[in-house]
Amino acid sequence: MPTTQTPTRTGLIRSLARGFIGRCPHCGEGKLFGRFLKVRPHCEACGLELHHHRADDLPPYVVIFIVAHIVGYLILETESAYDVPLWVEMGVWPVFTLMLALGLLQPVKGAVVGLQYALGMHGFAALPQARPAPGPEETRLAPAGPGAPASRT
Ligand SMILES: [Zn+2]
Repeated sequence: MPTTQTPTRTGLIRSLARGFIGRCPHCGEGKLFGRFLKVRPHCEACGLELHHHRADDLPPYVVIFIVAHIVGYLILETESAYDVPLWVEMGVWPVFTLMLALGLLQPVKGAVVGLQYALGMHGFAALPQARPAPGPEETRLAPAGPGAPASRT
């Protein structure tokens, strides 16, 4: 009888951190994103199905919350400490805000997916089973297409 290990769910903080750096929250090896904000359908390393995630609008809300606190604080500090011309501030702060928001959007979305995984939300309740080693079943099922040898009758 083969021994199979029961898959264990990764903890909350580790799942958030793995998602934040764009890795699979379950194994930490596979990539989470296929494109900028497009989550891959499944992890290529462990097979965790990622298409269940429902990040929806939470990542932009979190990014707005973070960016607004950082930029608001910096604007208040520069206004009170320095005499910066208005045209400089009108040129610097919007660009800084945009770059900070775009830079944080993917990591925050990854962390939200990691949060949903850690809490077992939506389709993340089921964990991927350990992949079996390729055995004789795959070679037996393989030749069944147009390239398969045809029987002569
Ligand atoms: Zn994985």
